[in-house]
Amino acid sequence: MPVRVETYDRTEDAARALSSSRSARFLGGGTLVMRAVNAGDQSFDTIVRLRDPSFSTIRSEGDGYTVGAGVTMAAVAQSRDLAFLAPVARVVGGPAIRNMATVGGNLFATGNYGDFTVALLALGATVNLAGSSGRGIPIDDFLRDRERHATSLVLSVTVPRPREAGAFRFLKVSRVKPKGVSVMSIATYLPQSGGRVQGARVAYGSMAPHPVRATGVERALDGQALDAAAIDRAAAAATQGLNPPTDAIASGWYRTEVAGVHLKRLLAGERR
Ligand SMILES: Cc1cc2nc3c(=O)[nH]c(=O)nc-3n(C[C@H](O)[C@H](O)[C@H](O)COP(=O)(O)OP(=O)(O)OC[C@H]3O[C@@H](n4cnc5c(N)ncnc54)[C@H](O)[C@@H]3O)c2cc1C
Repeated sequence: MPVRVETYDRTEDAARALSSSRSARFLGGGTLVMRAVNAGDQSFDTIVRLRDPSFSTIRSEGDGYTVGAGVTMAAVAQSRDLAFLAPVARVVGGPAIRNMATVGGNLFATGNYGDFTVALLALGATVNLAGSSGRGIPIDDFLRDRERHATSLVLSVTVPRPREAGAFRFLKVSRVKPKGVSVMSIATYLPQSGGRVQGARVAYGSMAPHPVRATGVERALDGQALDAAAIDRAAAAATQGLNPPTDAIASGWYRTEVAGVHLKRLLAGERR
Protein backbone atom coordinates (compact mmCIF):
# COMPACT_ATOMS: atom_id res chain seq x y z
CA MET A 1 0.00 0.00 0.00
CA PRO A 2 1.47 3.42 -0.92
CA VAL A 3 2.10 5.80 1.99
CA ARG A 4 1.42 9.51 1.49
CA VAL A 5 3.70 12.03 3.24
CA GLU A 6 2.19 15.38 4.27
CA THR A 7 4.61 18.09 5.46
CA TYR A 8 3.38 21.17 7.32
CA ASP A 9 5.06 24.37 8.48
CA ARG A 10 2.38 25.25 11.02
CA THR A 11 1.69 23.23 14.15
CA GLU A 12 -2.10 23.70 13.85
CA ASP A 13 -2.12 22.23 10.34
CA ALA A 14 -0.07 19.18 11.35
CA ALA A 15 -2.27 18.65 14.43
CA ARG A 16 -5.44 18.88 12.31
CA ALA A 17 -4.10 16.41 9.72
CA LEU A 18 -3.22 13.96 12.49
CA SER A 19 -6.49 14.22 14.40
CA SER A 20 -8.68 13.99 11.31
CA SER A 21 -7.58 10.46 10.35
CA ARG A 22 -6.93 7.31 12.39
CA SER A 23 -4.78 6.04 9.53
CA ALA A 24 -2.27 8.92 9.88
CA ARG A 25 0.95 8.70 11.94
CA PHE A 26 3.15 11.56 13.01
CA LEU A 27 6.81 11.22 12.04
CA GLY A 28 9.20 12.15 14.84
CA GLY A 29 12.67 10.77 14.23
CA GLY A 30 11.07 7.83 12.46
CA THR A 31 13.10 5.09 14.19
CA LEU A 32 9.86 3.18 14.83
CA VAL A 33 7.54 4.63 12.17
CA MET A 34 9.95 3.95 9.29
CA ARG A 35 10.66 0.48 10.61
CA ALA A 36 6.89 -0.13 10.48
CA VAL A 37 6.72 1.22 6.91
CA ASN A 38 9.58 -1.05 5.85
CA ALA A 39 7.91 -4.03 7.53
CA GLY A 40 4.75 -3.40 5.46
CA ASP A 41 2.56 -2.18 8.34
CA GLN A 42 -0.90 -1.62 6.82
CA SER A 43 -2.40 0.17 9.83
CA PHE A 44 -1.57 3.63 8.44
CA ASP A 45 -1.43 5.19 4.98
CA THR A 46 -0.39 8.77 5.78
CA ILE A 47 2.71 10.18 7.46
CA VAL A 48 2.45 13.69 8.91
CA ARG A 49 5.62 15.81 9.27
CA LEU A 50 6.15 19.20 10.92
CA ARG A 51 8.90 21.69 10.01
CA ASP A 52 8.35 24.21 12.85
CA PRO A 53 11.82 24.91 14.40
CA SER A 54 10.28 25.56 17.85
CA PHE A 55 9.38 21.86 17.90
CA SER A 56 13.05 21.06 18.51
CA THR A 57 14.02 23.63 21.13
CA ILE A 58 14.82 23.36 24.84
CA ARG A 59 13.66 26.34 26.91
CA SER A 60 14.28 27.14 30.56
CA GLU A 61 10.94 28.14 32.15
CA GLY A 62 10.30 28.83 35.82
CA ASP A 63 11.21 25.75 37.85
CA GLY A 64 11.99 23.56 34.88
CA TYR A 65 12.52 23.11 31.19
CA THR A 66 10.17 22.80 28.25
CA VAL A 67 11.64 20.30 25.84
CA GLY A 68 10.22 20.25 22.30
CA ALA A 69 8.82 16.88 21.23
CA GLY A 70 11.20 16.96 18.25
CA VAL A 71 14.32 17.21 20.43
CA THR A 72 16.51 14.16 19.86
CA MET A 73 18.24 12.00 22.45
CA ALA A 74 21.58 13.23 21.08
CA ALA A 75 20.50 16.86 21.70
CA VAL A 76 19.39 16.01 25.26
CA ALA A 77 22.74 14.31 25.89
CA GLN A 78 24.56 17.47 24.76
CA SER A 79 22.37 20.00 26.56
CA ARG A 80 23.97 21.72 29.54
CA ASP A 81 20.53 22.53 30.99
CA LEU A 82 19.39 18.92 30.79
CA ALA A 83 22.61 17.44 32.21
CA PHE A 84 20.51 15.47 34.75
CA LEU A 85 18.81 13.66 31.83
CA ALA A 86 21.97 13.07 29.78
CA PRO A 87 22.70 9.63 31.34
CA VAL A 88 19.18 8.56 30.34
CA ALA A 89 19.41 9.84 26.76
CA ARG A 90 22.79 8.13 26.34
CA VAL A 91 21.36 4.65 26.92
CA VAL A 92 18.65 4.91 24.25
CA GLY A 93 19.88 2.71 21.37
CA GLY A 94 23.23 3.39 19.70
CA PRO A 95 24.57 6.68 18.26
CA ALA A 96 22.59 6.43 14.98
CA ILE A 97 19.32 5.88 16.86
CA ARG A 98 20.04 8.70 19.32
CA ASN A 99 20.62 11.12 16.43
CA MET A 100 17.05 10.51 15.26
CA ALA A 101 15.00 9.27 18.24
CA THR A 102 12.88 12.07 19.69
CA VAL A 103 11.42 12.83 23.10
CA GLY A 104 7.90 12.82 21.58
CA GLY A 105 8.38 9.45 19.89
CA ASN A 106 9.68 7.95 23.12
CA LEU A 107 6.35 8.76 24.84
CA PHE A 108 4.60 6.41 22.41
CA ALA A 109 7.27 3.68 22.26
CA THR A 110 5.90 0.32 23.35
CA GLY A 111 7.36 -2.97 24.59
CA ASN A 112 10.90 -2.70 25.97
CA TYR A 113 11.33 0.82 24.63
CA GLY A 114 10.44 4.10 26.32
CA ASP A 115 13.42 4.45 28.70
CA PHE A 116 13.40 8.24 28.50
CA THR A 117 9.71 8.33 29.35
CA VAL A 118 10.44 6.35 32.54
CA ALA A 119 12.71 9.20 33.64
CA LEU A 120 10.07 11.80 32.74
CA LEU A 121 7.51 9.86 34.80
CA ALA A 122 9.74 9.79 37.88
CA LEU A 123 10.40 13.52 37.51
CA GLY A 124 6.68 14.33 37.26
CA ALA A 125 6.78 15.89 33.79
CA THR A 126 3.72 17.26 32.01
CA VAL A 127 2.89 16.59 28.38
CA ASN A 128 1.80 19.53 26.22
CA LEU A 129 -0.55 18.68 23.36
CA ALA A 130 -1.44 20.87 20.39
CA GLY A 131 -4.74 22.64 20.99
CA SER A 132 -4.76 22.19 24.76
CA SER A 133 -4.52 25.98 25.35
CA GLY A 134 -1.33 25.82 27.37
CA ARG A 135 -2.52 23.31 29.99
CA GLY A 136 -0.18 20.34 30.21
CA ILE A 137 -1.38 16.85 31.10
CA PRO A 138 0.42 15.11 33.99
CA ILE A 139 2.51 12.37 32.39
CA ASP A 140 0.84 9.74 34.64
CA ASP A 141 -2.53 10.58 33.04
CA PHE A 142 -1.06 10.78 29.54
CA LEU A 143 0.46 7.30 29.82
CA ARG A 144 -2.69 5.77 31.30
CA ASP A 145 -4.63 7.07 28.28
CA ARG A 146 -1.89 6.75 25.70
CA GLU A 147 -4.05 4.94 23.15
CA ARG A 148 -6.57 7.76 23.26
CA HIS A 149 -3.82 10.30 22.52
CA ALA A 150 -2.60 8.41 19.43
CA THR A 151 -4.13 11.03 17.14
CA SER A 152 -2.94 14.02 19.21
CA LEU A 153 0.21 15.95 18.38
CA VAL A 154 2.58 16.24 21.34
CA LEU A 155 4.32 19.61 21.17
CA SER A 156 6.62 19.37 24.17
CA VAL A 157 7.13 18.06 27.68
CA THR A 158 7.76 20.25 30.70
CA VAL A 159 10.24 18.73 33.14
CA PRO A 160 10.72 20.14 36.64
CA ARG A 161 14.35 20.80 37.53
CA PRO A 162 15.42 18.34 40.30
CA ARG A 163 15.59 20.27 43.60
CA GLU A 164 18.88 18.69 44.68
CA ALA A 165 21.74 17.15 42.74
CA GLY A 166 21.58 13.40 43.33
CA ALA A 167 17.83 13.33 44.04
CA PHE A 168 17.24 11.85 40.59
CA ARG A 169 18.75 8.49 39.60
CA PHE A 170 18.26 6.20 36.65
CA LEU A 171 19.25 2.66 35.82
CA LYS A 172 18.70 0.65 32.67
CA VAL A 173 19.11 -3.10 33.10
CA SER A 174 19.92 -4.89 29.85
CA ARG A 175 21.58 -8.15 28.91
CA VAL A 176 23.65 -6.72 26.03
CA LYS A 177 25.89 -3.75 26.76
CA PRO A 178 25.90 -0.96 25.70
CA LYS A 179 23.03 -1.08 23.21
CA GLY A 180 20.67 -3.78 24.46
CA VAL A 181 17.01 -3.09 25.13
CA SER A 182 15.67 -3.04 28.67
CA VAL A 183 14.98 -6.01 30.87
CA MET A 184 13.73 -3.12 32.98
CA SER A 185 14.55 0.51 33.57
CA ILE A 186 14.17 2.23 36.92
CA ALA A 187 14.06 5.97 37.66
CA THR A 188 13.83 7.41 41.15
CA TYR A 189 13.25 10.98 42.24
CA LEU A 190 13.74 11.25 46.00
CA PRO A 191 13.93 14.87 47.19
CA GLN A 192 14.76 15.15 50.89
CA SER A 193 13.77 17.57 53.60
CA GLY A 194 15.30 17.42 57.09
CA GLY A 195 17.12 14.23 56.11
CA ARG A 196 13.92 12.42 55.08
CA VAL A 197 12.47 11.62 51.68
CA GLN A 198 9.50 13.87 50.87
CA GLY A 199 7.44 13.20 47.75
CA ALA A 200 9.11 10.03 46.42
CA ARG A 201 8.46 9.20 42.77
CA VAL A 202 9.72 5.88 41.44
CA ALA A 203 9.01 4.60 37.93
CA TYR A 204 9.68 1.43 35.96
CA GLY A 205 9.90 0.63 32.28
CA SER A 206 9.30 -2.87 30.82
CA MET A 207 7.39 -3.89 33.95
CA ALA A 208 3.90 -3.17 32.53
CA PRO A 209 2.40 -2.30 29.11
CA HIS A 210 3.66 1.28 29.58
CA PRO A 211 5.98 3.02 32.07
CA VAL A 212 4.41 2.86 35.55
CA ARG A 213 4.94 4.24 39.04
CA ALA A 214 6.13 1.80 41.71
CA THR A 215 3.68 3.01 44.33
CA GLY A 216 4.61 0.35 46.91
CA VAL A 217 8.23 1.52 46.78
CA GLU A 218 7.18 5.16 47.05
CA ARG A 219 5.11 4.38 50.17
CA ALA A 220 8.03 2.50 51.72
CA LEU A 221 10.38 5.47 51.19
CA ASP A 222 8.21 8.50 51.87
CA GLY A 223 8.98 10.19 55.18
CA GLN A 224 11.98 7.89 55.79
CA ALA A 225 15.70 8.53 55.99
CA LEU A 226 17.30 6.79 53.03
CA ASP A 227 19.15 4.28 55.20
CA ALA A 228 19.76 0.53 54.85
CA ALA A 229 16.51 -0.41 56.63
CA ALA A 230 14.36 1.84 54.41
CA ILE A 231 16.13 0.56 51.29
CA ASP A 232 15.44 -3.04 52.37
CA ARG A 233 11.74 -2.23 52.87
CA ALA A 234 11.62 -0.53 49.47
CA ALA A 235 13.27 -3.54 47.82
CA ALA A 236 10.74 -5.86 49.47
CA ALA A 237 7.94 -3.76 47.92
CA ALA A 238 9.64 -3.58 44.51
CA THR A 239 6.89 -5.30 42.50
CA GLN A 240 3.92 -4.68 44.79
CA GLY A 241 0.78 -4.32 42.65
CA LEU A 242 2.65 -5.14 39.44
CA ASN A 243 2.43 -8.14 37.14
CA PRO A 244 5.53 -7.80 34.93
CA PRO A 245 5.18 -9.08 31.37
CA THR A 246 6.91 -12.02 29.73
CA ASP A 247 8.53 -11.17 26.40
CA ALA A 248 11.52 -12.11 24.26
CA ILE A 249 13.92 -10.33 26.65
CA ALA A 250 12.84 -11.81 30.00
CA SER A 251 10.02 -13.66 31.71
CA GLY A 252 7.65 -11.96 34.13
CA TRP A 253 8.97 -14.34 36.83
CA TYR A 254 12.57 -13.21 36.22
CA ARG A 255 11.61 -9.52 36.29
CA THR A 256 9.78 -10.05 39.58
CA GLU A 257 12.80 -11.85 41.06
CA VAL A 258 15.43 -9.28 40.11
CA ALA A 259 13.55 -5.97 40.43
CA GLY A 260 14.30 -5.64 44.16
CA VAL A 261 18.00 -6.37 43.63
CA HIS A 262 18.42 -3.65 40.99
CA LEU A 263 16.27 -1.19 42.91
CA LYS A 264 18.35 -1.74 46.03
CA ARG A 265 21.59 -1.11 44.15
CA LEU A 266 20.21 2.08 42.66
CA LEU A 267 18.92 3.38 46.00
CA ALA A 268 22.20 2.53 47.73
CA GLY A 269 24.08 4.50 45.07
CA GLU A 270 25.94 1.41 43.88
CA ARG A 271 24.74 1.89 40.28
CA ARG A 272 23.28 4.86 38.41
C1 LIG B 1 17.65 -0.44 16.93
C2 LIG B 1 16.74 0.32 17.88
C3 LIG B 1 17.11 0.46 19.20
C4 LIG B 1 16.28 1.15 20.09
N1 LIG B 1 16.69 1.26 21.39
C5 LIG B 1 15.89 1.92 22.26
C6 LIG B 1 16.28 2.05 23.62
O1 LIG B 1 17.33 1.58 24.06
N2 LIG B 1 15.44 2.72 24.46
C7 LIG B 1 14.28 3.28 24.02
O2 LIG B 1 13.58 3.91 24.83
N3 LIG B 1 13.89 3.17 22.75
C8 LIG B 1 14.67 2.51 21.85
N4 LIG B 1 14.28 2.39 20.56
C9 LIG B 1 12.96 2.88 20.16
C10 LIG B 1 12.95 4.32 19.60
O3 LIG B 1 14.11 4.60 18.87
C11 LIG B 1 12.83 5.38 20.71
O4 LIG B 1 11.82 5.02 21.62
C12 LIG B 1 12.58 6.77 20.14
O5 LIG B 1 12.61 7.74 21.17
C13 LIG B 1 11.28 6.88 19.36
O6 LIG B 1 11.25 8.20 18.83
P1 LIG B 1 11.12 8.52 17.27
O7 LIG B 1 11.16 10.00 17.15
O8 LIG B 1 12.06 7.78 16.43
O9 LIG B 1 9.64 7.96 17.04
P2 LIG B 1 8.89 7.74 15.67
O10 LIG B 1 9.31 6.46 15.05
O11 LIG B 1 8.95 8.95 14.81
O12 LIG B 1 7.39 7.60 16.24
C14 LIG B 1 7.04 6.59 17.16
C15 LIG B 1 5.54 6.76 17.50
O13 LIG B 1 5.32 7.98 18.18
C16 LIG B 1 4.44 8.83 17.44
N5 LIG B 1 4.97 10.18 17.59
C17 LIG B 1 6.24 10.59 17.45
N6 LIG B 1 6.36 11.89 17.77
C18 LIG B 1 5.12 12.31 18.09
C19 LIG B 1 4.57 13.57 18.48
N7 LIG B 1 5.35 14.64 18.64
N8 LIG B 1 3.26 13.63 18.72
C20 LIG B 1 2.45 12.56 18.57
N9 LIG B 1 2.91 11.34 18.21
C21 LIG B 1 4.22 11.23 17.97
C22 LIG B 1 4.51 8.33 16.02
O14 LIG B 1 3.36 8.64 15.28
C23 LIG B 1 4.66 6.83 16.25
O15 LIG B 1 3.41 6.25 16.52
C24 LIG B 1 15.08 1.71 19.64
C25 LIG B 1 14.70 1.56 18.29
C26 LIG B 1 15.51 0.88 17.43
C27 LIG B 1 15.09 0.75 15.98
